[in-house]
Parts: sequence; structure tokens; C-alpha cells
Amino acid sequence: MKTEKLLDLFARNGIKVIFRPLRYSSGGLLQHGGNWYCLVSSTDSFVRQRWTLAHELGHYLLHARSGVCSLFDEPTQEREANKYAAELLIPVDQVIACWEALNIYPYNKEEKIKILAKEFEVSAQAMEIRIKEVNNVPSSHLVNCICHNLCLDRAGYRAR
Ligand SMILES: [Zn+2]
Repeated sequence: MKTEKLLDLFARNGIKVIFRPLRYSSGGLLQHGGNWYCLVSSTDSFVRQRWTLAHELGHYLLHARSGVCSLFDEPTQEREANKYAAELLIPVDQVIACWEALNIYPYNKEEKIKILAKEFEVSAQAMEIRIKEVNNVPSSHLVNCICHNLCLDRAGYRAR
């Protein structure tokens, strides 16, 4: 998801996004005077700021309750917010399609992860985690089968 669209989601939910240097955190979500604010550390890298935005939006949609000012740092909520961020920034179907499309080039796994990280505007670390997750999705078995068959085809072992 492009940053413009991501910021648009905040606007639609009535959350004001504030970019400023934060010393001890990459961001946070807070409620004040009936309004919601998302703080993002402006000194973080571009991809890190995008992740923070997606993560905090996850907290807002999954955990925020009106009238309650909460700090979201409980491990389960953190995992859920990260999962939300991953699904928003790196949708499963899109990443599988792109990963598969790269198979025609002689890139190794590390190179493919770097290319996809750039494409999806996330960190290489976030992409690596996502690729691992995606490979655990049953549908990827199908993709693996397809890739395997294509290799066989190219090698000339196609069944008659
Ligand atoms: Zn969090």
C-alpha cells in the first residue's frame, strides 16, 4: 500500500498523524480531548515510518476503545498490530504473485527479498518475515507445485 493511501486511512478514521522526532519510541497512538492522534518518529527511516503507521492503525482498529486512553504495549496486542501492518503493507496474494514472477530471473532468495522490500516499501527484515509466513500458508503449496512443474517443463521432463 502506498503511503498516500495509508495516510488517507487515518484521515478517514479521523486520526491526526503527527510526525516529530521521538527519542524513546518509533510511534504511538493516543487519545486526547475526544480526538485520536498517531505519533510517528520523523527521524526513523521511511520504511520504518510506514510500518509504524500501519502498526498504529492496527491498534486503532483492533484495540482502541472510545473514551479509554490506553498505551498499547501488551505482547498479544503488539503481535496483532504487527500482523495487521503486514497484511496492510504486504498483502499475501500480491507478495506471492511477485515472488513467483521473480522466478524467471536468476536471483537468489536474499536478492528477491531485497527487490520485494523495495517494491512494497518495507524493510528487508519485514519482507523476510512475511515471506516465511506466506510460505506457511497452504495456498503457497500450490505456488510451489506450479513453480516445480515449470522447472520440470523447462528441463524437458513434461509428462506426455
Ligand atoms: Zn504497538
